Amino acid sequence: MKRVVVIGGGIGGLSTALSIEEEAVQKGLGLQVILLERKERLGGNIRTEKADGFLIEGGPDCFLSEKPWAMELCKKNGLGDKLLTTNDKDKKTFVLSGGKLHELPEGVILMVPTRIIPFMMSSLISLPGKIRMGLELFIPRKKTGDDECLGDFVRRRLGQEALDKIAEPLVAGVHAGDPRTMSVKASFPKFVQMEAEYGSLIRGMIARMGQMRKMMAERKAAAVSGEGSASKPKVSMFMTLTDGLGELVDSIVERLEMTTIKTGVNASAVVKTASGYEVRLEGGETIECDSVVIAAPAYAASGLLAGLDKDASELLDTIPYVSTATVSLGYKKKDIKHPLNGFGFVVPKAENRSIMAASWVSVKFAGRAPDDSVLIRCFVGGSKKEELVFASDEQIEKLVRDDLNDIMGIEGEPVVKRIFRWHKAMPQYTIGHIERVSSIEEKIAKYPGLYLGGSAYHGIGISDCIRIGEETAKKAVTFIRG
Ligand SMILES: Cc1cc2nc3c(=O)[nH]c(=O)nc-3n(C[C@H](O)[C@H](O)[C@H](O)COP(=O)(O)OP(=O)(O)OC[C@H]3O[C@@H](n4cnc5c(N)ncnc54)[C@H](O)[C@@H]3O)c2cc1C
Repeated sequence: MKRVVVIGGGIGGLSTALSIEEEAVQKGLGLQVILLERKERLGGNIRTEKADGFLIEGGPDCFLSEKPWAMELCKKNGLGDKLLTTNDKDKKTFVLSGGKLHELPEGVILMVPTRIIPFMMSSLISLPGKIRMGLELFIPRKKTGDDECLGDFVRRRLGQEALDKIAEPLVAGVHAGDPRTMSVKASFPKFVQMEAEYGSLIRGMIARMGQMRKMMAERKAAAVSGEGSASKPKVSMFMTLTDGLGELVDSIVERLEMTTIKTGVNASAVVKTASGYEVRLEGGETIECDSVVIAAPAYAASGLLAGLDKDASELLDTIPYVSTATVSLGYKKKDIKHPLNGFGFVVPKAENRSIMAASWVSVKFAGRAPDDSVLIRCFVGGSKKEELVFASDEQIEKLVRDDLNDIMGIEGEPVVKRIFRWHKAMPQYTIGHIERVSSIEEKIAKYPGLYLGGSAYHGIGISDCIRIGEETAKKAVTFIRG
């Protein structure tokens, strides 16, 4: 029987294995899939834990509904009823500026203002900063199509203050990245497209919001009509599952029928043979197969391909990664003076704090903390202060609590504490990323049946990883069918 080996048991590898099974069944192809995961646990960055009535996400805590692949997979896996929207009553985001929390004005989407009154009333941006952001409407579009770092792009279109107070902290909170090195083309292709199409991000964003509202209304209508009695809206911009994203991982594993999962197994090399490939494992075992999908980080793919293709391996190793840690702290509500009237806050670099962002998790999503408690999750490390990830638990906790106490006036002791370190877990799409990935793929194309997946190349979020898994599965099954 033909065999495919998938290396990596994160959402990228698991969803690839599931899609390969689906494709094979659809095409009437008998196939064996072997999935190898280095750790004992499946899920990669996705890790959900429950402790004393709190539901704690160690890594990702949601996915974007705008990118439909994660939501569709949840529904296919029987989790439609467990999809959870954000609590939209309190969906404000705050930005720390001058040591105080200021509301990100309503209507600012990512970094683009779309509503005049809340923007003009905002205490976050100075009057000259607001005027400069408004002038975006009149800044001519860029003439050349070459790549640019996000920092230059935002400064050019919206000005320095928008970069320092909005773009930089939001990007650090989401990508753990540095706007001075991030490729705008690879990380925010929609902004580049808006500039080209509308000549202005403000005009482009207003047009896109109209389309989004229409799409959301259609999805809500479909959800209500599909479930008869459903009365509450079923879609928000950020979505999760009632029992956490670990449920998505479990639901994939439950559906795998043709796949043998081997955890605690480190693949060490992929070697070309006369009939296909040999995957070598640490410890000496080898697995013969017809096709290989590497859904491990780019630096791991680099090691696996070092003997097969030196150039591809070297290029893979040039995709940088940063490390981050999440620190979840549960408190009794009575110990928090702050009204927690939003989803949380982000911290610009200029504020010189240890935390990059804090999510008020139990406000954002229902069921994350007991009724008398709240859950706060902070991010440290990333490109700003990566060294913090390597500090001791005690040091990290102290730095985070000092910041929270100062910013939010928390005086009580946490009743729950969890720190998750994510070493080299966030790929950075730096300037030239698109060209770099094209060169890698050109080299890999010399090896029919060999594919790369996961978050390193064409999208960093969960939904993108699932889409890439589906696309890769189609290619692998088509290849195997000859
Ligand atoms: C702290 C944090 C917060 C995030 N928040 C969000 C969010 O809210 N929403 C969102 O959409 N995305 C978020 N992301 C990004 C999201 O986690 C990733 O897009 C996604 O999980 C990547 O999946 P993956 O399968 O590509 O990689 P991974 O999850 O890294 O999985 C790769 C797997 O390969 C295994 N592996 C590596 N080398 C080998 C080898 N040689 N042999 C066998 N196995 C190997 C690893 O052990 C790992 O399990 C976040 C990421 C982090 C770190």
